[in-house]
Amino acid sequence: MIDPFGRRITYLRISVTDRCDFRCVYCMAEDMTFLPKRDLLTLEELDRLASAFVAKGVRRLRLTGGEPLVRRNVMSLFQSLSRHIDSGALDELTLTTNGSQLHRFASELADCGVKRINVSLDTLDPVKFREITRWGDLNRVLAGIDAAQAAGLRIKLNAVALKGFNDAEIPEMMRWAHDRGMELTLIETMPLGEIDEDRTDRYLPLTEVRRSLEESFTLTDVPFRTGGPARYVDVAETGGRLGFITPMTHNFCESCNRVRVTCTGTLFMCLGQEDAVDLRAALRASSDDDLLREAIDGAIARKPKGHDFVIDRATKRPSVSRHMSMTGG
Ligand code: SAM
Ligand code: SF4
Repeated sequence: MIDPFGRRITYLRISVTDRCDFRCVYCMAEDMTFLPKRDLLTLEELDRLASAFVAKGVRRLRLTGGEPLVRRNVMSLFQSLSRHIDSGALDELTLTTNGSQLHRFASELADCGVKRINVSLDTLDPVKFREITRWGDLNRVLAGIDAAQAAGLRIKLNAVALKGFNDAEIPEMMRWAHDRGMELTLIETMPLGEIDEDRTDRYLPLTEVRRSLEESFTLTDVPFRTGGPARYVDVAETGGRLGFITPMTHNFCESCNRVRVTCTGTLFMCLGQEDAVDLRAALRASSDDDLLREAIDGAIARKPKGHDFVIDRATKRPSVSRHMSMTGG
C-alpha cells in the first residue's frame, strides 16, 4: 500500500474497544458514554480486518483502545493474530495499555508472540496517579509492569507531559524507567475530543522539557526512527533512551507510515483529520474480503498529507472532535 505522497503504509493500529477502566483527565470526560456493543466489530471481524491489512503489506500491528485488555476475550484475538507472527507475515504484534490488567495477561501475551508493549504512565506518585486517571490504582499498574518484565516483554513507557502536573517529576521518572531497562517517551497533549477541562492550561511544549533536562543530563540525538512521530535521544547519565512525541511543535507527517481503525471499523487515514472510510459496512456486506480490500485501497489513495492541530486560547474547540480513546493512541 503506497499513498499519493509515496509513503508506504506498513503499520496499523486498531482500537478494539472505546471502553476503559480509567478516566484520564486529558483523554475522557468522567461521564463518557460508550458505544452500544452492536456497533463494535466482533473479535472475528477484527481478525478479518487485521488479516486483510496484513495481506496488503502491513508488517506491524498494534491493538489499542480505550483499554484493549478490558475487552472481553481479547486474548483470543491475540491468539488468532499470532498466526501472522508465526508465518512471518507480521514483524510485530503489540499493544498500548494502561497496565491495569497486565498482571493477569502478561504471560499469555508473551505466549502469543508479543515481544514489546507500551504502557502509559504519567506519574509515579500514587495520589497524583489517582488524580490524573480519576479511577486508577498505581500499585496495580506497577505489579503489571513487574509481571510483564518477568514474562520477558520489553516495555516502553509513555507519559503525557502536563504542565504543573508531572513536569518536575520527569527526571525522576526517566531515571526509574532507565534503571529498569525501559525506554520512556514523552507525549504532548493533543486536541482530541471534548474533555472536562481547558487543555491550554496543561499544554507543555516538549521543547521546554528538553531544555530543562539538558541542564542536568547530556542528551544526544539518535537517528533511530520507527516511521512514527517519536524522535529519540540517548541519555549519557542513565544509559537509556528518551523519546519525544511532538505533534504540536514539530510536524512529523512526511514520514507517516500508518493508518488507524476504530473499534467500529472506521478507518482514519490521519489521526488529525476527519476524513474516514467505513470498513464495517464492507466487512458485513459479504463474507469474502473483496469489498473490504477495495475499501482499503480507496482509503489509502485518499490519505492526506498531514494534520493541522492547534492548541491556543482562541481555539476553544478541539481540532478533532473524536476522542483519542476512539481512534486509538
Ligand atoms: N488505554 C490505553 C493507554 O492508556 O495506554 C490505550 C489507549 S490511550 C488513548 C493511548 C495513549 O494516548 C496513552 O498513552 C494516552 O496517554 C494517550 N492520550 C490520550 N489522550 C491524549 C491526548 N489528548 N493527547 C495526547 N495523548 C493522549
Ligand atoms: Fe483510558 Fe488510556 Fe484514555 Fe487513560 S488514556 S482514559 S487509560 S484510554
